[in-house]
Amino acid sequence: MAQIIDGKAIAADIRREVAADVATLSSAHSVVPGLAVVIVGSRKDSQTYVNMKRKACAEVGIRSVDVDLPEDISELALVAEVHRLNADPAVHGILVQLPLPKHINEEKILSEISIEKDVDGFHPLNIGKLAMKGREPLFVPCTPKGCMELLSRSGVTVKGKRAVVVGRSNIVGLPVSLLLLKADATVSIVHSRTPDPESIVREADIVIAAAGQAMMIKGDWIKPGAAVIDVGTNSVDDPTRKSGYRLVGDVDFAEVSKIAGYLTPVPGGVGPMTVAMLLKNTVDGAKRGIVE
Ligand code: NAP
Repeated sequence: MAQIIDGKAIAADIRREVAADVATLSSAHSVVPGLAVVIVGSRKDSQTYVNMKRKACAEVGIRSVDVDLPEDISELALVAEVHRLNADPAVHGILVQLPLPKHINEEKILSEISIEKDVDGFHPLNIGKLAMKGREPLFVPCTPKGCMELLSRSGVTVKGKRAVVVGRSNIVGLPVSLLLLKADATVSIVHSRTPDPESIVREADIVIAAAGQAMMIKGDWIKPGAAVIDVGTNSVDDPTRKSGYRLVGDVDFAEVSKIAGYLTPVPGGVGPMTVAMLLKNTVDGAKRGIVE
């Protein structure tokens, strides 16, 4: 049976470490890390995510700068808001909750965030540096960074291993592939146009599943003993639940847990790590601003 990686517990450890860093920054340097969380409009799911992030900030002592903007804000006005936050010395990180309303160009807004405050790590310059040998980005996207942290804190060696990433999105698949490569794994990426994906996944010592396809990865796709990180978060109908649905990953947990060496559950695996990494990125941004 696989060792189940407890993302909730690891994320709680990281939050404690972040809270200690925040306390030191404040006592030794009189700096309180600040995270601007920008939400445009009133989408229920976005509000839930934003409230969760703001609450997490408060718990570790990060000052959350709440920027709530109307659905019909113009692109120009939103850019001006981002520029105002770029110039605010009390703000060390800027997060713009996605998706933005259709009339606003997301790519344009994300590229207006100062790379020094790009705690989501989505700025093309930060992604570009992540891809280049010998360069270091100022920030690494939170979910991919969380996957790497789960591996290292579970004692899984990455160097020299075969890693297969399922998915190539800008927010998960691509950056996690680049991180694995930087950590000296030999990396393959499987996507929706890859023929016979299972034969490629079967070669992997480390599998990162980020396709958004419920329980796609079966037990016979997995090399015995492999470490499997399941990023997928898919809701499937479940009439036995009051809500009528439940969350499942991209991995068939019941099958894969019998074959893999390590496995993250959904929920309680990668999910809690994403917010923990956002807090860590914000504090790292605040530390960088201190001139010793
Ligand atoms: P996305 O933008 O939809 O990308 C999905 C990727 O998977 C694409 O590259 C796609 O290939 C590939 N793919 C789709 N079907 C496939 C198949 N049958 N075989 C192989 N590859 C396939 O999704 P995302 O934003 O990266 O998110 C992926 C999953 O992670 C989702 O379930 C999402 O909810 C979850 N997620 C969780 C967290 C967290 O904090 N836990 C954070 C972010 C995302 P193409 O490029 O060819 O289309």
